[in-house]
Amino acid sequence: MLAMNYKNVYELVNNNNNEAIKLLKTIDNTDLQIKILKIKSYSKHVLYFNEAINILNSIEEKKLKKRMFMPILNSLINFNKKKVQEFLNYISSKYFLNEDDLQFFLNNNININNIISKNCIILNKNYFNKNELIIKKKCPNCLNELKKDYINKSILITQFNKHYSFSFNNIKNYNTFIDGNNIIFYDNKKVIYKSFIKLRVIYDKLIKLNYKPIIILHRRHRDFLKKNFPKKYKDIKLILKSLNIFYTPYKQNDDLYFIYGALKTENSYIVTNDKLRDHIFKSKDDNISRLYSKWLETVIIRYTYNNKIIEPNKVSQIAQNINNIWHLPLKNGKWICLK
Ligand SMILES: [Zn+2]
Repeated sequence: MLAMNYKNVYELVNNNNNEAIKLLKTIDNTDLQIKILKIKSYSKHVLYFNEAINILNSIEEKKLKKRMFMPILNSLINFNKKKVQEFLNYISSKYFLNEDDLQFFLNNNININNIISKNCIILNKNYFNKNELIIKKKCPNCLNELKKDYINKSILITQFNKHYSFSFNNIKNYNTFIDGNNIIFYDNKKVIYKSFIKLRVIYDKLIKLNYKPIIILHRRHRDFLKKNFPKKYKDIKLILKSLNIFYTPYKQNDDLYFIYGALKTENSYIVTNDKLRDHIFKSKDDNISRLYSKWLETVIIRYTYNNKIIEPNKVSQIAQNINNIWHLPLKNGKWICLK
């Protein structure tokens, strides 16, 4: 094998698998690359299929990758259809799956809606013999309302609590958490009198739109007003007094408060132009970071330079089962209702 080029064997597996098996049989399972090739090759052959599974089982847990499981899944489809769904569920419990991974199931109309939902897949193609619908909130086909918070927020809350513990009890009457820092720095990169006017304008607009806002602002913006704004500090004080504000303590990241507030509240919103990406949810676990971005999509309200409010979608772009009817999102922004 040392003399053999890895790429040649790889091609042999694709072009003449029986020859590839013969060759691979002569090579020890020492190297991980060889094991992967063997899994790919053996799993295609009914007589060697079990050996492929044994090789997969011999790989250390931390070295396992989704691509090592996929050839086995694809062969199960041919050799043992009864086990396919079970194995798919198993892979899905370990890895994030995409539309390509699920081609067989989609093309054959096998019900994997749960997996599509759990993996936050937005389909490129309409695999169903159904019309594509525009859904703002209520489905025009079955008249059910889709949900905004369809994802499992408890996973995110657990992750959050692993890293931080603090009390933020003033949140009960609010559903919209304003990143005050982001707004007051937005136009000028530094805080000036106009920054506080902007804060009030955005706050007032949110009230008019029936949101229940609270501003999260670092304490230092209140504590040094007189020093920083010797001429305007009285006006600024009046503005701040007229708003609902939660002042975050020193030595604490104020972002954590509005993220936490929005996680703990149903149908919540965060007002910020920040991407909120550099966070605890940028974890090694794709599962959590994908849920987090999905959640942000329906939570973040943005604002423009002219203080125009840009509201998010009212429904999560995620496959939703409402009253036992599945709704699947498409890349073109439309939906399929499987009623
Ligand atoms: Zn529907």
